[in-house]
Amino acid sequence: MGLNIAERCSSIYADWNVDIDGTSAASDPWAFGTSSQDPVRKVGFNGDSAATWQEFGFQRLRLCFSRIFAFNNLLLEESMSEPTEKSLKRMQIYTEKYWEKTGTSPHPTREIADTVINGLAQHIDEVGRPLCPCNFYPDKKAELERSREWVCACDEMKIFKYCHCLLFVTPEGMPITEYLPEDHEGRQIYGVVKDPTPDKGRELRRKTEEKIAEWKADRD
Ligand code: SF4
Repeated sequence: MGLNIAERCSSIYADWNVDIDGTSAASDPWAFGTSSQDPVRKVGFNGDSAATWQEFGFQRLRLCFSRIFAFNNLLLEESMSEPTEKSLKRMQIYTEKYWEKTGTSPHPTREIADTVINGLAQHIDEVGRPLCPCNFYPDKKAELERSREWVCACDEMKIFKYCHCLLFVTPEGMPITEYLPEDHEGRQIYGVVKDPTPDKGRELRRKTEEKIAEWKADRD
């Protein structure tokens, strides 16, 4: 059961917070978010000395992200530990241009972008297309025959401007979630993250309703 009626440190939550950071305010370590969010442990990631509910979500996704990479890299280790220079260059150029085209930014932790670009380049070498490296595919070739859904830039990026790999993000390193449906995991993890450049990107936005209907049909 969720504790989603908490908005502040009061009532049954009155004793939850104490002064840990020496600011003379009993405001640590819990962040209460909004009335639809559960209290979470505060985590500060973007260097602004503030900890937000969304950053806690980022911590969870980054953990998940690093596990996926560890797994993918493990699978690739025997056959190809590094992408070829040609594929790496191709993806570096593509990524630079796509940041510009969509008004998104590289993550402030540069190694996140580098790792994703590396994974995309490895997929070019392995299967001929920059398949998203943050998913697990039982059969990568079969996945490409099924659809181009996860070829970078993927459908989620082109339709909703959401990059779950954190390759195309806001200057603060947050994935844009404002165009996603409310029940999408991106919205559940990060809350609403506004698009700082709404005039750019979303080149397949016309497919928004179609995609949401497709997700709904998959669920039902
Ligand atoms: S845009 Fe899509 S395919 Fe490309 S890295 Fe991001 S999530 Fe993966």
